[in-house]
Amino acid sequence: MPAGIHSPSRPNTSQLVPFWRARLAERGLSPATIEHFAITPRGDGWQYPVHPALDATRWKAFDSTATPKYLWLPHKPDAVRFYNVDGTLRDAVALVGGILWLASGEPDVWALWEGGVRNTTCLFDGETRRMPPWFAPELTRLGVRVLHLAPDRDRAGMRFVIQVSRAVSHTPIRVITHHLPFPPRSKGDVGRLLVNVGAARLRTTLEGLPAYEAVFEPIPPDERPTVVQRPLPHLFPNRDDLYEAWCVEVVEPAAVRAWGISPPDARGFSKNFRCPFHDDRHPSAGWSYETHGIHCFACGYHDAREVAEQLGLPSWESYRAGQGAE
Ligand SMILES: [Zn+2]
Repeated sequence: MPAGIHSPSRPNTSQLVPFWRARLAERGLSPATIEHFAITPRGDGWQYPVHPALDATRWKAFDSTATPKYLWLPHKPDAVRFYNVDGTLRDAVALVGGILWLASGEPDVWALWEGGVRNTTCLFDGETRRMPPWFAPELTRLGVRVLHLAPDRDRAGMRFVIQVSRAVSHTPIRVITHHLPFPPRSKGDVGRLLVNVGAARLRTTLEGLPAYEAVFEPIPPDERPTVVQRPLPHLFPNRDDLYEAWCVEVVEPAAVRAWGISPPDARGFSKNFRCPFHDDRHPSAGWSYETHGIHCFACGYHDAREVAEQLGLPSWESYRAGQGAE
């Protein structure tokens, strides 16, 4: 059928689409993407190759709450590295000057691909707790200079940022994290973003998300590991003097009062306090007087916009409008 032509009398094709394909279509994946990743049905899930040189295939259950959720068939090969279905990952990274999107799992790689992001891969343990020893050397071999992450907005996602930052801390590789537009601890991920905004807008939406450089900070052995997430000013279209004024005059004083935040130390951080964004039993959060936000080692960075929303303060948009700016 020619593109764009739909007969009004065409039959309801939903009866003709196999279940395994329908489930992928629900995730916003097109037939071309399904074909690229050579995804086929097997039992109650999908199976797909991971690298042209590896015989083993990977299997994922249709139902994300199923156990097991993923399997190796017949078993995990020793030589497995990053997800690289056609072996062209190095070329895809070179094409964009050394940028790699490290997704949280295979479905996020499929979603990114659908959105036109070709320089993407994942580890097969998803947001793993321990990085494999080959992680940094393999990134270097792939020519990666900058790693982009859009982690799930939960503890596992934050832990992933810490692990990745730590693993590359002795290399020149930079780690940029992006805040997905979902509430903390929600199930929102890149796959949901694809469904929400559509393939045509996925890449620009991702690139427009607030971005932070995650820098792993060596810490004394008795403290828990953390990363400092520094906002990247050039990626903030609105981060100008007026935004700074809103942070300093509206958000920060209200936060300091509401949560009893202590004054800044030499590095511009408060003493730790209980994080208002998760059920925090022990003080996990620090206020940055430099970035005007909360760095929580359990649930990540919360910028002034999130803090304002949490405290019911006038939003940045309304403040800006009130100042006569547009
Ligand atoms: Zn928190």
